Amino acid sequence: MKITDVRMEVYSWPREKPITNGLYTYTHSGIRPVIIETDEGVTGIGLAGGDQVSPEVTVSMVEHFKEILIGKDPLDNERHWHEMWRPKLVGRRGITTRVLGGIDMALWDIKGKVANLPLYKLLGGFTNRIDTYVAGGYYEEGKGLKELAAEMEHNVDLGVRAVKMKVGAAPINVDIERVRVAREVIGPDIRLMVDANNAYRHYQAIEFARKAEKYDLFWFEEPVEPDDYIGQAEITRATSIPIAAGENEYTRYGFRDMINTRAVDILQPDALVLGGVTEFMKIAALAQANDLDIAPHGKQEVHIHLVTAVPNGLILEYYADTFDTMHGNIFNDTLKIEDGYVYAPDRPGLGIELNTEFLAKYRVG
Ligand SMILES: [Mg+2]
Repeated sequence: MKITDVRMEVYSWPREKPITNGLYTYTHSGIRPVIIETDEGVTGIGLAGGDQVSPEVTVSMVEHFKEILIGKDPLDNERHWHEMWRPKLVGRRGITTRVLGGIDMALWDIKGKVANLPLYKLLGGFTNRIDTYVAGGYYEEGKGLKELAAEMEHNVDLGVRAVKMKVGAAPINVDIERVRVAREVIGPDIRLMVDANNAYRHYQAIEFARKAEKYDLFWFEEPVEPDDYIGQAEITRATSIPIAAGENEYTRYGFRDMINTRAVDILQPDALVLGGVTEFMKIAALAQANDLDIAPHGKQEVHIHLVTAVPNGLILEYYADTFDTMHGNIFNDTLKIEDGYVYAPDRPGLGIELNTEFLAKYRVG
């Protein structure tokens, strides 16, 4: 089997309402599928991170990597990863690694289709379902405590036993009040996580954590900048709340450093960011060797396979259709929450098909 084409399509759509996390405001959502064709008619789809970068940047990177891949066997993902990876030229972090990851994911999609196995089975098949939490609790214009409470209640009503909210964009005492209200409305038995999206300095994060401890948080996510391993390690020692991070970390080397500095209690790898499925599985194994659990970040359609493949998968992040009203139309099928769990689909590979007819009007590259 040979690779005959590698390309990226870029889709972007305006959000109904801009949303804000601890540091950034988002006016658009989008996806960047990488599509790999073969001479045997098997097509692979991967998803690359990088929604905030202009389409030309990521499309031209795919063109660069394409030269390496044309004519090669798509099943040799380990070889291709290492041929694409040039730490002095592309990477070692940032957008090139994200694009490389999308390509790697499409190769795994092909492998699954050739084996006629869903990716989670191919990668280990530890389980076919995983506990899930609904991500939300963003800052929005006109959204006060009442609206936040209504959202958290709605998210719990989707049938989960855990929900997450943003912190870090408001003064600490204002956020503590938001957390108090969220805990009050969801009750004592639903797990509550907070996510600061790198908004704090380490001493602010410690102040927040100490004030928030009485609200029984399941984790405190990305309190500081992703490179501040030492500051983050200080936070883990200063609070009883577990610290989670990793969505802005790249490759096994980055996760090695996070682990070795004891900067984190729960790892949140994102295959769209860190370099694809090949690299994700190494990080999952590294975490196992350190008795750490993984709770992957974002893109549930991809991470359902990766978190169920391994024994140290903790929980799946789930974005409901209410978060992005376009979401339900992007793929052929959306993952449903059943009794607090999400089940891995049994279609071969990632089991993702793009609804291209619907997406056509949002294509920007
Ligand atoms: Mg996050």
